[in-house]
Amino acid sequence: VKNGQKLEKMVKKIEEEFWISVELLKQLADDMVLMMRKGLEDADSSSIKMLVSYVDSLPSGNEEGCFYALDLGGTNLRVMQVKLQGNRTIDLKAESYMVPPKIKTGKSHELFDYIAEKVSHVFEMKEDDFEILPGKKRELGFTFSFPVHQTCINSGTLLNWTKDYDAPDAIGKDMVKELSKALEKRAIDVNVTALLNDTVGTLAGGRFYDKNVVAAVILGTGMNAAYVEQSDRIVKPYGLPPKSGQMVINTEWGNFNSSLLPLTVYDRALDNDSPNHHKQLLEKMVSGRYLGEIVRRILLQLADDAALFGDSVPPKLQQHYVLGTDIVSAMHGDKSADLSVVGKCLEKVLEISNVSLEKKKVVVKICEIAATRGARLSAAAILAILKMLGKDKLANVGETVVAIDGSLFAKYQEFKSCLQKTLAEELLDEQVSKMVLLKQFKDASGIGAAVVAASHSIYA
Ligand code: ADP
Repeated sequence: VKNGQKLEKMVKKIEEEFWISVELLKQLADDMVLMMRKGLEDADSSSIKMLVSYVDSLPSGNEEGCFYALDLGGTNLRVMQVKLQGNRTIDLKAESYMVPPKIKTGKSHELFDYIAEKVSHVFEMKEDDFEILPGKKRELGFTFSFPVHQTCINSGTLLNWTKDYDAPDAIGKDMVKELSKALEKRAIDVNVTALLNDTVGTLAGGRFYDKNVVAAVILGTGMNAAYVEQSDRIVKPYGLPPKSGQMVINTEWGNFNSSLLPLTVYDRALDNDSPNHHKQLLEKMVSGRYLGEIVRRILLQLADDAALFGDSVPPKLQQHYVLGTDIVSAMHGDKSADLSVVGKCLEKVLEISNVSLEKKKVVVKICEIAATRGARLSAAAILAILKMLGKDKLANVGETVVAIDGSLFAKYQEFKSCLQKTLAEELLDEQVSKMVLLKQFKDASGIGAAVVAASHSIYA
């Protein structure tokens, strides 16, 4: 009984610590707007870098031709062949590969050799259905979802790794050069015509289908967003101003940090134990790479201090990152009366068996507490982007579409609902919220990379 009361008290305290009021969410959005403006003046003075993407025109949907896309930085390496057929239609073929952890954290050249090998494999497979015109090379858009400093559309140096990548000797190198070198070594005949972040790809791919798309948000392993900025608002030097008067900005908002960010002891400990400490603080409170780890840390504390799983602490629960966000999502969504899914997950992932219904309810509650905070913070971040676009106001909003992707949003129903509800009912005015749509477009990032490669074709 004593433990039960203690447990209840602790859960209540954790819930309070993780709750972010609507007032604070609005303040955080305003603070993000300030940081984004600062990032447009000088990247070094802001935690939000606001990287210039050099994508200054977006697709119409009428593009034609066969282009390739390569996507690195997500859960899988993807190699795609995209046939653009005009009139917003495409034929897309994709192959996915799980990048081995050893490659993710090895030497730069090993990573790019690995990629080149997969590209070569796909080209061999798809050779028949591609008509290479004499004297012409294939063209490829390279989606690379890590922070890079670009000086033009087809070159960019790696600033730092995020997520679970860590190949230190790649930092400072031009990712297009490294890829091209590896492709040349294998005598693969392809020209890397564009380097882009996955958010930029998702924005371009979304726009390919829908002219009202003005921003893209990724909620997957990491979190990031891109949007269309007026180029005259970019104060920092970046080259000649684009004729279109527009420029896609890759915000890298996952690195947002502010004294307002209500970090808990769990967040601080997670950050301290991470290879990139003091970086990506917003991302560490929200995204798929970390949400499960936050839940694990809370459960461990409850096991330690309030005997959540009996007298001893289950050894598996002490293992960092053992609990994935997909499992959190499965447990949170358990609709069975006896929470059998929770029971199975605890057994399979944490090797904890015979957990009472009451204790399983506590586990679900912790998933809910962490996911709710992540979803509310995501909604605040989206509000910040809408504010940057002036689309938080009824006079300007028109029909506004934010392309959104990533498993955290797409596959975690409770997370998604909470995000949408917070944005629509708490953060935006009722009339404005009716005009703002968060929409998923299938394969947007790959299509976007192909379309951007098309618009920067060396043969155009
Ligand atoms: P990317 O790595 O490109 O962001 P995803 O969008 O698939 O790829 O995101 C992967 C992340 O989403 C991982 O952190 C994973 O734990 C999480 N994830 C996968 N499935 C689910 C799910 N059903 N619910 C919540 N999160 C999930």
